[in-house]
Amino acid sequence: MDCIFCKIIEGSVPSKKIYENDKVLAFHDIQPAAPVHALIIPKKHIETMNDVAEEDLSLIGDIHQAAQIVAKELGVAESGYRLINNCGKHSGQIVFHIHYHLLGGAPLGPLNPQA
Ligand code: AMP
Ligand code: ZN
Repeated sequence: MDCIFCKIIEGSVPSKKIYENDKVLAFHDIQPAAPVHALIIPKKHIETMNDVAEEDLSLIGDIHQAAQIVAKELGVAESGYRLINNCGKHSGQIVFHIHYHLLGGAPLGPLNPQA
């Protein structure tokens, strides 16, 4: 399958790993949008949030648990961070293997700059 994140999981594409267990993997984003920018992915190939089936729901908890660990590991647990999932065209999703961005390390600004 031609999926860059599946290739990272199998090791044929390199990544800077932060955390891994049997269900999930976390690594540094190659083009960071903040001083701390990690990606957290399930090892199972699921394309988008829309494709998360009943049997996959525990994986979402596993990802949040990994986010806690990654935030501690990267020193942003106390200062704070944002966890983002992009789903589909309007979100700007470019990699169709579900992933969560963990951003932090500096104030991220409001979601709505006009507010
Ligand atoms: P999204 O727009 O939510 O699909 O975001 C995909 C993210 O994957 C972007 O922030 C990219 O910088 C990141 N990315 C793409 N290829 C790699 C890679 N080989 N290693 C690490 N991050 C990557
Ligand atoms: Zn994949």
